[in-house]
Amino acid sequence: MSDKKNNPANSIQDLQLFGEFGGVNPSIADSSTFTYLAGKTMGDVFEGTREGCYLYSRHTNPSTSYLGEALAGLEYMKGAILSASGMGAITTSILQLCSSGDEIISSRTIYGGSYAFMKNYLPKFGVKTTFVNTTNLAQIKNAITDKTKMIYCETMSNPLLEVSDINAISLIAKKNGIKLVVDNTFTPMIFSPGKMGADIVVHSLTKFINGTSDTVGGVICSDEEFITELIDVNSGSAMLLGPVMDSMRAASILKNIRTLHLRMKKHSENAKYLSEKFQDDGLRVIYPGLKNHPQHEIMKQNMNDGFGFGGMLVIDTKTKEKANKLMEKMQKNNVGYLAVSLGFYKTLFCAPGSSTSSEISENEQKTMGLSEGLIRFSVGLDDDIKRTYNVIKKCMKELKII
Ligand SMILES: *Cc1c(COP(=O)(O)O)cnc(C)c1O
Repeated sequence: MSDKKNNPANSIQDLQLFGEFGGVNPSIADSSTFTYLAGKTMGDVFEGTREGCYLYSRHTNPSTSYLGEALAGLEYMKGAILSASGMGAITTSILQLCSSGDEIISSRTIYGGSYAFMKNYLPKFGVKTTFVNTTNLAQIKNAITDKTKMIYCETMSNPLLEVSDINAISLIAKKNGIKLVVDNTFTPMIFSPGKMGADIVVHSLTKFINGTSDTVGGVICSDEEFITELIDVNSGSAMLLGPVMDSMRAASILKNIRTLHLRMKKHSENAKYLSEKFQDDGLRVIYPGLKNHPQHEIMKQNMNDGFGFGGMLVIDTKTKEKANKLMEKMQKNNVGYLAVSLGFYKTLFCAPGSSTSSEISENEQKTMGLSEGLIRFSVGLDDDIKRTYNVIKKCMKELKII
C-alpha cells in the first residue's frame, strides 16, 4: 500500500531528514538565535518580506520544524507549530482565533483542562462558550449565533469515548463561516480530521504520539495562513505568549513517532481484546470497537484502515470505592499504574470523575453520564494480553465486581 492518502504512517516513513555529516537522524539545532551575514536580511525577516530564514527559536527552530513537518504530514495539513504542552497548543489556537465578544461552541465532554479554560478563563476576555453534545448535530446548529467564531471538539472524547462526526460538523462550520478546531490526541493515525474538513488539528504529544511518558508537548497543525498568523512578530499568539517547545525535546519526539503506527495497532488490538472480555463478563464497557457503542458505525465509516479503534477503554465498577480498590489491586499485581495520562507501554488507569475530569462539577458529570465508578484504561503494549486479562479477572473476582 504505497497510497499516502489513506495511510498517514507513510507520511512519516517517507521522511528523509539527515544530519549535517550525513547522519541518519537530523542534527539538533541547539541554539536560541541565528547569525546573519547581512543586516538588511535580518530587517527583511522581521518585516515578513523574506521567508525561510531562522531568526530566533521562539519563532521557529530547525529541530521543531522537522518535527512540525512530520506531524503536519501525519495530519495531512500544510504546517505545524510545536508547543511545550497540549494545553499550550489548545490555548494558543483559541486565543489566536477569538477576540472579546466572540463565542465558541464546544463539546461538553472534553479534556478537563480544555473545559476549564473555556468555562472559567476565557470569560475574563469576554469570550463565551456554549457547551453542547457534538455527537448531536442539531445541538450544534441551534447554538450558532452571529458571534460564533469556532467549534471545538475531540475526535474521540475524554473520558466517554464519544466519536464526533467531523465530516458533518465541518460542513456546518463551513456553511456558517466558522472555524473547526479538533483535538485528535486520543486517535493519531486512526483519524485524520484535517482530511475530514477540520481547519485546525491540535494534539497533546504527551500521550500516544510521543508514547514514552517522559515529557509534555503539543502541536497545532493547520494551513499556511494560520501558521503564519501564529508566529507573526506583532500579533501571533505563539510568538507573543511563547509556549514553544525546546529543540532537544523536539528531536527526541521525532525519533519516537517513527514507531507510532506499530504502537497504535498494538494498543488497539489489546484494548479490543479486553473490552470484549470485560463485556462477556457482564460489565458495562465503553469501547468504540464494540458493536453496541453508539458511534461504532460512524467510526467505521470515517477511520483510516489498519490502526484499530484506539487504546482507550472505560469500564463501570458502579461505585467509587470499588473503582479505587480495583485500581490499587491491579497496580499491586503489576497490570499497570494508577496514573493519569495515556499512550504509555504500560497500562495506565484512573477514575476520571475524581481526576482528569474533576474540573467538571458533580452535577454536570451526572448529566453527561460520567458515573463515579468509571475506570478509564489506556491499554498498554502487553505482548501477552491474555495473561494480563487473567490477572485483571482475578482482581475483579476477589472484589466481587464480576
Ligand atoms: C492530556 C490532554 C490534553 C492536554 O495536554 P497536556 O500535554 O497535558 O497539556 C488535551 N487534550 C486531551 C484530549 C488530552 O488527553
